[in-house]
Amino acid sequence: MASRLRKAPEPAGRYADPMGAATSQRRERWAAAADRLGSYALLEIGDASFVCKAADCAAHCCKVFSVSLGEAEVGRLASATGWPPARFLESEDGRPLALPLAQPYLLKRRGRGCGLLGDDLLCGVYDGRPDACRLYPHFVLLLSREGGPVQPDAESLASALAAAATGDAHEPAAVLVRHLACPGFTGPPLDEAAWLALLRETARLQYGESLAAMRPPATP
Ligand code: SF4
Ligand code: SF4
Repeated sequence: MASRLRKAPEPAGRYADPMGAATSQRRERWAAAADRLGSYALLEIGDASFVCKAADCAAHCCKVFSVSLGEAEVGRLASATGWPPARFLESEDGRPLALPLAQPYLLKRRGRGCGLLGDDLLCGVYDGRPDACRLYPHFVLLLSREGGPVQPDAESLASALAAAATGDAHEPAAVLVRHLACPGFTGPPLDEAAWLALLRETARLQYGESLAAMRPPATP
């Protein structure tokens, strides 16, 4: 946990608190938000990192969630497998079903789980798996002072991520959370660099490359 980073007396300033004001702010925001986001827990610097334990949970996430995909993900999966999309998407008369959504396609299910899950509980298309599968079990939320989730635009997300990297507080605050149903948080503690990389990569997968990578606005 975070206290492991503070065992010895530290000089004042940034090194006494690895991410400065940002860490305190994230903890305060999460304390205000936690009651209404009961399926998640805050994931902070010093917390155990993620290592998939599919054998322990019988591939829980691949069984309970339906996975939606956009066009680019369908293309990536088709390239990785060499399969026509109708082979791995919910389809009718040999044509993938397209819902009127931003991510219109659904991975085919088999029985009570993803149709691409092997009997060995491993993903059968790991290199081409959809973004939702790469994202889980991490998520990034922007939280207001009251702890309410804020829908980010490109500027607010980019500036919140930039503030997290410098250890500065930001309004709204970007917090990294983990899904409590996943038992995989048993790895070595996340150091600051690993936590920041995970925050950025999770934001990129969750909100899209262009949104998460946009340069923050210039400060006056
Ligand atoms: S729930 Fe977590 S540990 Fe289990 S298969 Fe999914 S990611 Fe891996
Ligand atoms: S594509 Fe792979 S990782 Fe994603 S739900 Fe299916 S089996 Fe699991």
